[in-house]
Amino acid sequence: MNEFELIEHYFNWASHHSVDLSVGDDCAIIDTDPNVQIVTSVDTLIEGVHFSKNTRAADIAYKALAVNLSDLAAMGATPKYFTLALTLPELNEAWLSEFSQALKQLAKEYCIDLIGGDTTKGTLSITINIIGEVETGKALLRSGAQANDLIYVSNTIGDAAYAWQQLGWGNTPSDFYLNRLNRPKPNVELAQQLVGVANACIDISDGLEQDLSHILSRSNTGANIDTKAIPLSDAVATYIDTTQDWCVALAGGDDYELCFTVSEKNIDQVELIEKELGITLTKIGVVTKGQGLKIKGLDKACQSYQHF
Ligand code: ADP
Ligand code: MG
Repeated sequence: MNEFELIEHYFNWASHHSVDLSVGDDCAIIDTDPNVQIVTSVDTLIEGVHFSKNTRAADIAYKALAVNLSDLAAMGATPKYFTLALTLPELNEAWLSEFSQALKQLAKEYCIDLIGGDTTKGTLSITINIIGEVETGKALLRSGAQANDLIYVSNTIGDAAYAWQQLGWGNTPSDFYLNRLNRPKPNVELAQQLVGVANACIDISDGLEQDLSHILSRSNTGANIDTKAIPLSDAVATYIDTTQDWCVALAGGDDYELCFTVSEKNIDQVELIEKELGITLTKIGVVTKGQGLKIKGLDKACQSYQHF
């Protein structure tokens, strides 16, 4: 039983209230008002699992909030509030000061309020529950992909995994790669512009192959993508050229870029968004009627990160 089968088997229950979307997407959607829906998600970071022991407090704080902002972004929602459950091994004021300042700074940047939480003693772990809003019926879901949609990704893929790998090998990646790992930028603005343009969307937290597969299974579709089309930064391109190790781009998570599908009639709008935001949006393949993801140029399968 893997992580996703575990969730489906034990925790996907029927709702008692007006829940529009429950377990299985980047966020849940709750009906409260005819015009606005509440969008919410929770993510935990644990020392030794999501970050190494020597990661700076500021980087941990940034990432804990950024990954939650990214899940809201994947829905095209506007972030509003969050709660913080903090488990600390000790009361270290220097650490807490750095942590809280970085958290506050990112919260200010995205105009989001800390409204509660819980503080306990134990192995360092940070859980953030994020709450936002979306216009009723407008959220970007994993389940909306249609056959013949074009599949896009934002920016470049595999940078965070490359940085993690280099660190593991005792090398020091450049600041660009360290920032891609420690300071992923949540694509909130991009996703909001994609509302009404994209049919399906997910943020790439676990790896392109696995996360695109979530869109495909929830949409009952398949897809063909081409490794040659995947946008890569220079060092990642050189690394893959030398090693043919595509897994760094396909199975490496932590980029928090968006993967989304668009019907052909909306391609012009994608190009407009790209120009307006000054980011790169790259077509990597097409959604198909059949099931499963076919990846041209990949010899051996990659294993994306799973907790079990
Ligand atoms: P993401 O990578 O976008 O954060 P996950 O892969 O962590 O999403 O989770 C997949 C889906 O399963 C999400 O809808 C999440 O809310 C749900 N989920 C995960 N763990 C649990 C749990 N223990 N109980 C209920 N739902 C869960
Ligand atoms: Mg997600």
